[in-house]
Amino acid sequence: MNTDNSKSLFERAQHSIPGGVNSPVRAFKSVGGTPLFIKKAKGAYVYDEDGNSYVELINSWGPMILGHAHPEIEAAVRDAIGNSLSFGAPTSREIEIAELIVSMVPSIEKVRMVNSGTEATMSAIRVARGYTGRNKFIKIEGCYHGHGDSFLIAAGSGAVTMGAPDSPGVTPGTAQDTLLAPYNDLEAIEKLLDANPNEVAAIIVEPVAGNMGCVLPKEGYLQGLRDLCDKHGVVLIFDEVMTGFRLSKGGAQEYFGVTPDMSTLGKIIGGGMPVGAYGGKKEIMEYVSPEGPVYQAGTLSGNPISMAAGLTMLNILNTQPEVYQKLEETGKRIRKGFEEGLEKLGLNYTINSVGSMITLFFTDSEVNNFEDAKKSDTALFGKYFHGMLEKGIYLGPSQFESLFLSTALSDEDIDKIIEANYEVLKKIHNL
Ligand code: PMP
Repeated sequence: MNTDNSKSLFERAQHSIPGGVNSPVRAFKSVGGTPLFIKKAKGAYVYDEDGNSYVELINSWGPMILGHAHPEIEAAVRDAIGNSLSFGAPTSREIEIAELIVSMVPSIEKVRMVNSGTEATMSAIRVARGYTGRNKFIKIEGCYHGHGDSFLIAAGSGAVTMGAPDSPGVTPGTAQDTLLAPYNDLEAIEKLLDANPNEVAAIIVEPVAGNMGCVLPKEGYLQGLRDLCDKHGVVLIFDEVMTGFRLSKGGAQEYFGVTPDMSTLGKIIGGGMPVGAYGGKKEIMEYVSPEGPVYQAGTLSGNPISMAAGLTMLNILNTQPEVYQKLEETGKRIRKGFEEGLEKLGLNYTINSVGSMITLFFTDSEVNNFEDAKKSDTALFGKYFHGMLEKGIYLGPSQFESLFLSTALSDEDIDKIIEANYEVLKKIHNL
């Protein structure tokens, strides 16, 4: 596979962009080698600057649920562009998308648009603090909530991949208000709540973690969090930047039947445009300015192009239940194919999956939290990653990421993924 163009672009990029990339995990640091520079993508395929094509399993880290360059979304964007790119003033489409989100996501009675998942989580925590009059919040180890200062404590995703979960530049003053508990551990939460009476404003959690690889909530975990929050007057926030509109049209909260007080949403609502949102119970969201005292703003928030893309995407998700059937079936087929491959090769690695999110962990033990995930053999993952790339399969370049499937994957694509997985595992184990 020739990647000369990507190599020279990466070399050039490093002179003017830190590390040559605009977001760390793109740099292939944990897997080694040169990142691919992408030229275009269509449906289930992505094309690099050397003309190589790959089956797409990153999908812009989640949002391309319907595959790339979906004709209806593309048409909506083209249509909106003719009316200017931004006004910084209210539009009717913002009401339409807000009403749609309120109708789809169980916890959301009012919603505010922002421009990224990071903004959504930062704002949600501020509102929870304003609403409760408390300063601290509980974060779960290995969950990633964007790069807001107070979340860069035991963070997953790029932060763990880069080996710097506690970033320089985050002050001790900020860090002291972030309390930590392991995923799937209700006792640890209870202890923190007892040790900090009337001080904890919120618990924020990825209802299915996607940023330490895919880690599922154990039976009763999410409900346990709900009960503890009720008991202690704490705002429960589900960060559904990855799971929202992906696990079901109402996100993980609908999938697992547990309703938080607030939810944060991201990239998926924009169909790939830069968007985020946070919402929740009316009595909490009424604290947001200008209705209430908690300040939060954005010049480009509710941007007309993003709203046009998002509205079209959400309308499809809302009216075509077959999308979720297809995602579930594709996820099950790939999981089964991976399991059969492992069995044939006599390997015993752990696969975690739910719906269209899957991670193959290079460890024999169960993965229920960040400590478990870190037992994976990341060097072996690096070999696997490059082997898959050689076979034309584009995965997230880190063990601590999930695959994100799209409805654009054909039966042949699925077979190709399963076969590549088998061949690559065989090769890297010299079997
Ligand atoms: N929350 C979660 C659960 C995420 O996965 C991410 C990013 N992948 C974020 C927040 C941050 O979103 P963004 O990168 O759009 O700021």
